[in-house]
Amino acid sequence: MLRIGQGLDVHAFTEGSFVTLGGIQIAHTQGILAHSDGDVLLHALCDALLGALALGDIGQHFPDTDERFAGVDSKILLKNVYELIKKNGYQLLNADMTVICEAPKIAPHNAAMRECIADVLGVEINQISIKATTNEKMGYLGRGEGIFASAVVLLQAV
Ligand SMILES: [Zn+2]
Repeated sequence: MLRIGQGLDVHAFTEGSFVTLGGIQIAHTQGILAHSDGDVLLHALCDALLGALALGDIGQHFPDTDERFAGVDSKILLKNVYELIKKNGYQLLNADMTVICEAPKIAPHNAAMRECIADVLGVEINQISIKATTNEKMGYLGRGEGIFASAVVLLQAV
């Protein structure tokens, strides 16, 4: 039994000196505007995992009106989501993710992010793929106003 899921997320940049992406902090000339740590990659991944089993979305499970989730480390959200997936009798086969932004540069941090996500989920690093591209200077992403991530996952019944 296989299930596929897709997740998308976007956050705006704001004043700051780093962004949290793929569970790690990356130095940048701006920060991320968010109720949590604003990790678009982990949020997209959470939504893809939930979506694969039709379990709703991250906003339903962790409402941004709930003070418990203010500034929360998204690795904790991801861990909780994957626990729910396993409780429902499924495991991750692979996740393929894409980040779109003009800056910061993602490539130098790719391996560290994959390793971090694999570690949180307890899977092999070769099950986690992260790709990055720019928006060719077009639109809000191209103007550097924010950062976007998409994730697709395939789950297998245990
Ligand atoms: Zn988000």
